[in-house]
Amino acid sequence: MDKAAAAKIVEESIAALSEEYAVLDDIALYNQEKVLNAFRKNAVQARHFVGSTGYGYDDAGRDTLSQVFADALGAESAVVSPMITAGTQALTLMLFGVLRPGDLFISVSGKPYDTLTDVISGENCGSLKEFGVDFAVIGLKTEGLIPVFDLEAIEKALKSRFAKAVFVGRSRGYEWRSAISVAQIGEMIAFVKKISPDTLVLVDNCYGEFVEKTEPTDVGADLIAGSLIKNIGGGIAPTGGYIAGKKHLVELVAKRLTAPSLGMEVGSYDGGYARFYQGLFLAPQVTKNALKSSFLFAKAYGSLGFETLPKPGMRAYDIVTGIRMNSEKQLTGFCEAVQSVSPVDSNVVPVPWAMPGYQHDVIMAAGAFVQGSSIELSADAPIKEPYIVYVQGALTFEHACIAVRETLQKVIADN
Ligand SMILES: *Cc1c(COP(=O)(O)O)cnc(C)c1O
Repeated sequence: MDKAAAAKIVEESIAALSEEYAVLDDIALYNQEKVLNAFRKNAVQARHFVGSTGYGYDDAGRDTLSQVFADALGAESAVVSPMITAGTQALTLMLFGVLRPGDLFISVSGKPYDTLTDVISGENCGSLKEFGVDFAVIGLKTEGLIPVFDLEAIEKALKSRFAKAVFVGRSRGYEWRSAISVAQIGEMIAFVKKISPDTLVLVDNCYGEFVEKTEPTDVGADLIAGSLIKNIGGGIAPTGGYIAGKKHLVELVAKRLTAPSLGMEVGSYDGGYARFYQGLFLAPQVTKNALKSSFLFAKAYGSLGFETLPKPGMRAYDIVTGIRMNSEKQLTGFCEAVQSVSPVDSNVVPVPWAMPGYQHDVIMAAGAFVQGSSIELSADAPIKEPYIVYVQGALTFEHACIAVRETLQKVIADN
């Protein structure tokens, strides 16, 4: 496809998305006010941006940052730290923070994200299994493309043995279905708590922050966890993760992050916290850009007969769009095109690679300012049939417009 034809598809797609984009504007306005109010409530000042060293005792920047995150997420308390290296570590801390030997926890949204496999059941790596924590999976009853919790199976499991925790992934991972809405998660939580009031509900919140007006913590989740190099870091936070929720549980998580005797009394960061605060402030806007970008990819490719998820017109509950390519060549071509219009490493050609924690070779286009950041425009795909490429992020909507144009030229020419 030539450049003019690709530009025309982008233009027409944007015009056709005006109603969907108005909904996203409304969500972003709501979330921006929520975040701003969290800053105001905690009286954030320039002194909070200053770094600390050593133990980090009385680090006001660290403590205030955590409370601003908690308030923005509708949670009592939070641990927010540059010492948390990735979303996987934040999720690991959440699980190890509250689960104890002999406990059972049940994932009720199918198999958890790939990188949690070893965390839960790996051999000789310090997994939950090795510490005597039992694990069960209840799959979703996907109706069409809409995920539905298997309430019957959940009820049966909860009645047959006490479960310390139920685990839910809000995003879809590499599955061909919609993400799960906060409303659905809320209904599931109410159902679980009615049967078993002492069972905790833990949520993988990756890719979900600020996609809707509410977070799982607003609807009763006990703990949520996520990465700062996704939505909630606003593309500005350089690294880190968070866990937010009920105060006494967040304290247990903090003791796991540092030591049982220390909790969040310690933790320094010489680099200062300005980028974490500013990232959170920008996050509603950046998440909106990512969603607009996601819808644009879906609309443009949908109009050419490609199967996409979300389908054009569907509501999105995470920032990911999956596009089913017709061949491995199209798949790699798509990722090469995204990489070639990245602000960083545009001269690099991505190749499939065995990534730690993933089961298949994965090709990733990630020309990001923050390494591996997927709130920046990025595309990845496990190299296997049915050749689905997952695209997410975009700090600016205009960048996504350029990328859609570029991928169309590459993919359609390669047809
Ligand atoms: C990104 C992600 C994670 C964690 O991955 P990291 O690369 O360790 O940050 C977990 N679950 C989901 C759904 C994710 O998107």
